[in-house]
Formats: sequence, C-alpha cells, structure tokens
Amino acid sequence: MSTPKCLEEGRTGLVVPIVDFNRCEGKDACVAVCPYNVFEVRKIDRSDYRELSFVGKIKSHVHGGMVAYTPHADQCRACGLCVKACPERAIKLVKV
Ligand code: SF4
Repeated sequence: MSTPKCLEEGRTGLVVPIVDFNRCEGKDACVAVCPYNVFEVRKIDRSDYRELSFVGKIKSHVHGGMVAYTPHADQCRACGLCVKACPERAIKLVKV
C-alpha cells in the first residue's frame, strides 16, 4: 500500500488533534489509523472526568471510562485520518 500524498507532504506543528471527552468512547479507531502514534486510549483522569457534562459522565460509566489522549500531539501531520475514523465524531484538528 502506498503512502497517501497528504502524509508524504505533511508537516508537524501546524495543527493538533483535540478530543472531546464528552463524545469519546475510547474505541481505538484513532489509535488504529494514526500513522504517527499520536493517540493513547486509557482511563480518563479524575480532573478530566470532573469536567464532563452530566450526560458525558453517564456515557463514561457505560464505556468503562476509557478515552483517547494525545501524548504525541506534536507529531500530528494534519492528515485527518483520525477525524474521519472516529465513530463518535470526537476529534477535531486545531491550528497551533
Ligand atoms: S490528523 Fe493524522 S497525524 Fe494527526 S493525529 Fe490524526 S491521524 Fe494522526
């Protein structure tokens, strides 16, 4: 499989992915598609849990409190694969 053109031309430092924890259900699609290992799915931090909406807290309990963090956001090349892959539409790319 060849590398998509957008990946060949992608540069770091233009955007970072932001995950909406009220939507994210930790389903791993972003981990699977990101060519640069930007994401890590793990249990939500207490401080992030406290900031969830009422509905977000209920959803969090249903899916085991797993969400996608972005420990390597600085490696993002703005390819957009994670945005398309997320079944919850929880990811957006934000200019830095
Ligand atoms: S836009 Fe591409 S490089 Fe950036 S986090 Fe999403 S999948 Fe990874």
